[in-house]
Amino acid sequence: MNSLTKTSAIFALAAGLLTTPLAYGQASNNAYEDEWSRAFKQYAAQLNDPVLAQSILNYTAQHERLLQQHGYIGRVLPIPAIEAVAPGVFFVKGALMWGTLENFGLNNNITAVELESGIFVYNTGSNPAVAYSFHQKLQRHTAMPIKWLAIENYQSHANLGASYWMDVGVHNLYSEQAAADFWQVRGFDRAVQRVSEYGPLLIQPVRNVADRYTRFEDRLVINEGTGDEVHLVNFGGGHTPTMTGAFIPSKNILFTGDLGFVERLPGLLHGSSYSEWLQSFERMVDYVTTHSPDLDNLLVIPGHGGASNLTELTRQTYDYFKDLEEVVKQAIEQGVARQDLARHVEMPAYRDRPMYSQLFLRNALSVFDELTTGQVSDPLLADE
Ligand SMILES: [Zn+2]
Repeated sequence: MNSLTKTSAIFALAAGLLTTPLAYGQASNNAYEDEWSRAFKQYAAQLNDPVLAQSILNYTAQHERLLQQHGYIGRVLPIPAIEAVAPGVFFVKGALMWGTLENFGLNNNITAVELESGIFVYNTGSNPAVAYSFHQKLQRHTAMPIKWLAIENYQSHANLGASYWMDVGVHNLYSEQAAADFWQVRGFDRAVQRVSEYGPLLIQPVRNVADRYTRFEDRLVINEGTGDEVHLVNFGGGHTPTMTGAFIPSKNILFTGDLGFVERLPGLLHGSSYSEWLQSFERMVDYVTTHSPDLDNLLVIPGHGGASNLTELTRQTYDYFKDLEEVVKQAIEQGVARQDLARHVEMPAYRDRPMYSQLFLRNALSVFDELTTGQVSDPLLADE
């Protein structure tokens, strides 16, 4: 038996165990086709043996159904350990840089919070493999079911794990309307392409499930009046054109999403606006000032960087943009041209923060452009 015959014999055998022939050939909307089954489908199409071909197609269908049921099948990745940053609050800190193969694309935080009757998760994780790995770790800390999941913004690190959670039975995924639209129509394909370049295995079973997100515009209070109450608030633009934070009254926790950066330098990317960021940040502070039962002890989970508090968060994010604005305004007043900006916008006080060297000029250029033209660039590339 040559190896090809052997393979087909094995799969004919495996497929023969399936009794129901499954309809095939129509890929579901935006399905990311599994490479393993694609090869078998091609093989089946070339066969002159319709019975064997049908068996192989049955096998691929079963394989894909199984993958979907599990959301991801593969190794548990060595992502950072879960930190219990407060009772019932399980936090994994993303790498303080952009997504790479070395950090499995995990460059933002994922957090799970035990509420009265289930778990609320903030952000899906940056791909199905990361979502699965987080889920595996989480199950060692808690047996509660995951019931609600919120997506913070337009970016892949907020969205790309979504199909994993849906596949394993989490159906309440919340996203602000414009962010969900963006992701559904433009963001997903681009993100898949990007991750494929450095880690195709991380996203192999991924699908675009944004059409099943629960959408809201300004604010949505989940489970109001119960011990499961969560406030989702679109505080406005900034890092991406809308930014969803979450506030949990019973735990006195604020999730800032990417309005809040601690440790690493915040980044102004395509679609970012520093002036909107400042305004949205102020709205966020107003919101918790009104709603927090104990502002001094508010636990703040930023989009990037470790767990923090409101004073530190303000210093490291809001004050940075105020300082940056000042530096760029001075350069403009002195008549510095755009191409000469690098020599005038160094900010030594911030030099030790991760991503400073990669972002200080880019951020300054973004502020410069916004101040001189009033324009903000297209969010399609907002994903670093
Ligand atoms: Zn981010």
